[in-house]
Amino acid sequence: MLFDLDGVLVDSHHAQLAALAGFATSALGHRVTVADLPAGAATTPREQTLTELGYTGAIDQDGWAAATATATLTVEVFPFVADALAALRAADVATGIVTLRSRQRVEWLLPPGVLDLIDVVVCYEDAAPKPAPDGLLLALDKLGVAPGDAVFIGDMESDMHAARAAGVTPIGSAWGFSDPATLTRAGAVVVLPHTDDLAGTLLSLTGAGRRGT
Ligand SMILES: [Mg+2]
Repeated sequence: MLFDLDGVLVDSHHAQLAALAGFATSALGHRVTVADLPAGAATTPREQTLTELGYTGAIDQDGWAAATATATLTVEVFPFVADALAALRAADVATGIVTLRSRQRVEWLLPPGVLDLIDVVVCYEDAAPKPAPDGLLLALDKLGVAPGDAVFIGDMESDMHAARAAGVTPIGSAWGFSDPATLTRAGAVVVLPHTDDLAGTLLSLTGAGRRGT
């Protein structure tokens, strides 16, 4: 069972906007708040957003990292995630994360106790980015799971497209960055509502973990 990170396991929407606003404030030399950002900034390439704000210089990586680190400290793991991952492990279901974040950022976002419940983490530096299927296929290869036996839970169109391309069942999260209709159009077989029993829902959908029947 594979998961996207942002908008699926961690509630990072506001933090992404805060990092952009913080970097823009520093780069432009005047106050830029989250409310000043163009619509859709959390899902738009940062270069494009910064250009729209009037900043056309190079992105200083140290400055970007500082803005991101500060904003990231406000990020919470969704409340149902730790229980869900523990239940999946108890049911002997292999788990992985496939994210566009770098490995360093994953460690900023996820507390060690949650990270320990994930069997494999595929990051930005490991494979061609989604919507290419490479990251999902790499994770499944490491887990020894066939694509046809896997699901990928994501919150962006690119997640659904990557799953389709990998031969993995695409499942949408309704608690992430995109609305359910967008995910359905992009190929999600189901878009899960916000749930306190994520593991139970996933296990009943996939049949995974039903042993001895
Ligand atoms: Mg996401």
